[in-house]
Amino acid sequence: RKHVFKITTGSAELDKILGGGIESMAITEAFGEFRTGKTQLSHTLSITAQLPDESKGYSGGKVIYVDSENTFRPERLRPIAARFNLEDECALENVLYTRSFNSEHQMELLDMVAGLFHQEAGIFKLLIIDSAIALFRVDFSGRGELADRQQKLAQYMARLQRLSEEFNVAVFITNQMTSDPGATMSFQADPKKPVGGNIMAHASTTRISLRKGRAETRIAKIYDSPDMPEAEAMFAITNGGVTD
Ligand code: ATP
Ligand code: MG
Repeated sequence: RKHVFKITTGSAELDKILGGGIESMAITEAFGEFRTGKTQLSHTLSITAQLPDESKGYSGGKVIYVDSENTFRPERLRPIAARFNLEDECALENVLYTRSFNSEHQMELLDMVAGLFHQEAGIFKLLIIDSAIALFRVDFSGRGELADRQQKLAQYMARLQRLSEEFNVAVFITNQMTSDPGATMSFQADPKKPVGGNIMAHASTTRISLRKGRAETRIAKIYDSPDMPEAEAMFAITNGGVTD
């Protein structure tokens, strides 16, 4: 049996409500309004995934970062690497970066991802998709295309889940907020919902909602975790990445 591991988010508080961090063999989804920290969390995890943790038998490893929004900044990784005492050139080389240009391309990229996971077995620990859904929204934005979009999204998420289990990697995806009719979940007290409705709700193992707190602070809330209660944590975004 494969050994499940957890990758630290850089915030002890956030790790605590996640039961230790972002889990392998599972999909963790972070959703929230713009500037709530989804991309900063993605950058931080790109570094923390590389940190070995001998006490937990975790070796650390490489990361694949799929960017649909052109918001990845390799330069952002340097101060985060420095915070965790990683040599920055080496840390950057361990993050394989690719843009995705449309939903079909994003799907095809998973063939490349599977190939790499297969070639270098056990070397890759984390797959990031920032954002997983944005391009599906663009490509299936017409009237009457919602059912098609949801079907493609379900296929995409099923492939992510399979990759995470087959190769024992953590999959971290980001999602936006919307008031579109595809979002059928009832998040009371908030008219906006994560995109993707029931498909996303069921496909993600653990869902983290992010919202702004005071200044550089953010509040994360866990939904739908299979083994953790709904709980909130406050964290901050700094030059060194996500922290308490
Ligand atoms: P979007 O939906 O637009 O993609 P997001 O949730 O991905 O938004 P991020 O880009 O992760 O949001 O977060 C942006 C926030 O991170 C900004 O408020 C910015 O102040 C903060 N931030 C970015 N870089 C730094 C840094 N080097 N030091 C401190 N804070 C930073
Ligand atoms: Mg972003």
